[in-house]
Amino acid sequence: MTPEPEGATKPPKGKRKQLVFVVQEHLASHLHYDFRLEWGGVLLSWAIPKGPSLDPSTKRLAVPTEDHPLEYANFEGIIPPGEYGAGTVMVWDRGVWIPDAPDVDANLKKGELKFTLEGKKLKGSWVMIRARGGSFRDSDKPYWMLIKHRDAFASEGDITKTEPLSAISGRTLEQIAKG
Ligand code: MN
Repeated sequence: MTPEPEGATKPPKGKRKQLVFVVQEHLASHLHYDFRLEWGGVLLSWAIPKGPSLDPSTKRLAVPTEDHPLEYANFEGIIPPGEYGAGTVMVWDRGVWIPDAPDVDANLKKGELKFTLEGKKLKGSWVMIRARGGSFRDSDKPYWMLIKHRDAFASEGDITKTEPLSAISGRTLEQIAKG
């Protein structure tokens, strides 16, 4: 048996740690989708009011929020009244993300992060771009845009409407809210 050649085009399987991504639909004071990427031992997080779009011509506003612990990627359920983010949380999609370039920190700093998503619903090539000089509703944090690249997984349908169920339990938001 000949060993597989160490090709630059083929990442060595099993050697590189897989990075988790999750999208949590969150019915709090306002409905939004929390988009989280595992990086540096935490989940980098953005709140996307309208959720991701598979349409490359649609840019979706993504407002940076606090890093979350990795375990939070598994959370689906109810955040009790009075607690931060009180409301209902659904794991709307989950899978792995693969940065296009290895230096994610540099690209985050630069404000342009390209990656592939391998989720149950979200797949293919995406980019997050930080808006220049802009901030969202007087927040001091600049906002970002999540945009689908044109590829085989792009489409015009609204995936938040066509794929509304939990990626881990198959439940609706209402069913989760009822416990
Ligand atoms: Mn949230």
